[in-house]
Amino acid sequence: MPNLNSLYRAYSDKRKKKPTLKQLYLAYNKKYFKNRLSVNAAVNWSHKLRKTDYIGRTLEAPCCPPVIQISSELRKWPSIACMTLLHEMAHINCPGLHGKKWQKRMHRLASKGAFDLLW
Ligand SMILES: [Zn+2]
Repeated sequence: MPNLNSLYRAYSDKRKKKPTLKQLYLAYNKKYFKNRLSVNAAVNWSHKLRKTDYIGRTLEAPCCPPVIQISSELRKWPSIACMTLLHEMAHINCPGLHGKKWQKRMHRLASKGAFDLLW
């Protein structure tokens, strides 16, 4: 599996094929979540989100692996797409909205450098 640096380089190099959201998810899962999130999660661009106020969302049901949707609008802003993906992954890790546990998880991601190459 390619590491995050090579995936980010592919984003900025027009000659290289862009990494998929699932490739980024797997790399983030390994580096920042100790592979605790489901490897079977579906991670997709969504045209439907373009018509809403959301840039990303996570759908979870007890029977199925989680589904992360990132607005296809963010294809134009890869770093925002990556930050949104990390945001949604923190939701899988800390179910619920943006409560204390989720806030703490986001701070931990930031302290581990998850956003360093993105902002
Ligand atoms: Zn959220």
